[in-house]
Amino acid sequence: MTSDSATATSVTMDESILEEAGLLLKTGHATQKMEESINTMARLLICPLCDKIFKQPSTLCSCAHSFCMHCIDDFACSNWNCPVEGCNMPLSITGRHGGSYRKRNPQIAQTLESLQLICKQLNESPKNWWRSPSVLKSIEETLKERQLEKSDDDEDDDDDTSVDDALDEFRKRYRKVDRQNFGESRDFARSKKDDDDDIDSIDSDDSLWARGKRCKHDNKRDRA
Ligand SMILES: [Zn+2]
Ligand SMILES: [Zn+2]
Repeated sequence: MTSDSATATSVTMDESILEEAGLLLKTGHATQKMEESINTMARLLICPLCDKIFKQPSTLCSCAHSFCMHCIDDFACSNWNCPVEGCNMPLSITGRHGGSYRKRNPQIAQTLESLQLICKQLNESPKNWWRSPSVLKSIEETLKERQLEKSDDDEDDDDDTSVDDALDEFRKRYRKVDRQNFGESRDFARSKKDDDDDIDSIDSDDSLWARGKRCKHDNKRDRA
């Protein structure tokens, strides 16, 4: 682990490390923010010797740096000082009441267990549980339509991509409906310029502008 890359890697962590420790979230079961927070916490639970999530976390009596129990025990067989860069405290120092040079750390173990429990519960929750029912319904409908349209040209797109695509499509459609209902006059000027945009092409023929012109004309005729 390099300490200077900590910020850059705060979002992404090796998935196999997370998976091994039961901290990998399945796609669609947590928001990006949740995932980032869990990854940030997981990074604090990494053993400096094996670069994996602590197993039987143990803390040195001399400097309070923590490691997996087996990692620090193996290391202590042939080394005399703490392996954390810049620390170098002698391993031989024992606690106030003597005993081993390192102690099991129940606080770290409990934190890890809690985090594992959170991940387990998130993974067992329904997909996209944080989204509103109407959005979920639209996603479902879009996905169904896509499946019908789907030909063999999409190879192995995973679930996540299709949900994201479905969301994009939902947003587009929402915009389209919004424009159909409220936006003709507001968007007409712009839509004339973006003829290539399929969303804007709705109001090319029978636009409010055209209708407005006709109305004016009719009014004039009526008055005459
Ligand atoms: Zn370790
Ligand atoms: Zn240390």
